Amino acid sequence: MDCPLFGSAKEFNKNNLPTISDVCLQYLVLKEKIKRETNSAIDPKRREVNKQVYDLLILIWGEANIKTQKQLTVMTRLERLRNKYIEISRFHQHPDKIKPLKVTAFKNEGKSLFDIRECKNLPTKCQCENCTILPQKLKSFIIDQLGPRNQTIP
Ligand SMILES: [Zn+2]
Repeated sequence: MDCPLFGSAKEFNKNNLPTISDVCLQYLVLKEKIKRETNSAIDPKRREVNKQVYDLLILIWGEANIKTQKQLTVMTRLERLRNKYIEISRFHQHPDKIKPLKVTAFKNEGKSLFDIRECKNLPTKCQCENCTILPQKLKSFIIDQLGPRNQTIP
């Protein structure tokens, strides 16, 4: 299955932290999976799919040993992202309402980390109790994931 914004639906690559587009594509995979499993023609509830996306996110961030935001906060962000995704992915049908710039901006945004860290500061510059205990390796991994994204989970 293809997404008009980010390419083919695919599962998280568990070697690094998911980007915004990874979250959108993982959502599509899970939506289809639930439909198959329940043998239903109707799309599953967004909340249900988002909960499964959430569980996978927490697994990966847990693997990286990085403290994340509260479940409710992350679920709300997933819900918002899904709404935005649905709105913008309909740009073909609504060329009058959804401007190409908005589509380009969202595609660019998709490349950045879906950042669910509890502390949103740069870990190398922050003195909070979360950041000060992070090993140097993890700090540089976070900086990498926020930027060039060449590293894998240490
Ligand atoms: Zn901090």
